[in-house]
Amino acid sequence: SVDIIGLSKRFGDTTVLHPTDLRIEDGEFLVLVGPSGCGKSTLLRLIAGLEEPSEGRVVIDGRDVTNAAPSDRGLAMVFQSYALYPHLTVAANIAFPLKVAGIARREIDDRVREVAAMLDLSDLLDRRPRALSGGQRQRVSIARAVVRRPRVLLLDEPLSNLDANLRARMRHEFARLHQQLGATMIYVTHDQLEAMTLANRIVVMGAGRVEQVGAPLDVYRRPASVAVAAAIGSPG
Ligand code: ATP
Ligand code: MG
Repeated sequence: SVDIIGLSKRFGDTTVLHPTDLRIEDGEFLVLVGPSGCGKSTLLRLIAGLEEPSEGRVVIDGRDVTNAAPSDRGLAMVFQSYALYPHLTVAANIAFPLKVAGIARREIDDRVREVAAMLDLSDLLDRRPRALSGGQRQRVSIARAVVRRPRVLLLDEPLSNLDANLRARMRHEFARLHQQLGATMIYVTHDQLEAMTLANRIVVMGAGRVEQVGAPLDVYRRPASVAVAAAIGSPG
């Protein structure tokens, strides 16, 4: 599980995340929604260790990782901007984190082939990023995140740069990937359809706080406030 305990973040005098408690169970698909600037990315970055909390702790599988380096938390993050290495092939981009981790060449080749098949990239392994479509690039960045077999995958609006068709396809691929990996997913989106179809539980945030947590249909039918209704697209 991922346990967030009294986690908060201030920048100077501004509190962007008030003390927050949240427990995410193993294998859960948690979706974070809420208006722009409410602190979704900040919460993800705190979990990933890319940002230092003002207070509180992050515990992953019983281990306090609050002071652990991002690479030592057993998680991987996919960003909205894909941040691929332009001079490396698709295969080398995917292999990169394994090389850094000092894994043997043979094992790297096997794992790259495995995730490439999973994400429908097998025919593109020799290409460079500039010769790929947006959706293909996005799949490479997801492959690069999952190739280390993280127990927890953090995704910050991973589909926001894609057109509607591709988004719909990728939405299904995420559902499939979640099943195949069995990983815990924490997924930020503005897209109500993504939230409703992918989530086991939805967390609705507003102005640096969690406003409501629940199963998608429960939150949709019984939003705790007007703001929650707006974030989740409830009628009326
Ligand atoms: P969006 O949906 O637009 O991506 P978000 O919910 O992800 O929004 P965050 O990026 O977490 O929002 O930002 C939350 C608040 O913290 C915003 O008001 C933002 O301006 C502020 N903030 C983020 N990073 C910093 C920083 N380094 N210094 C000061 N303020 C920051
Ligand atoms: Mg954000």
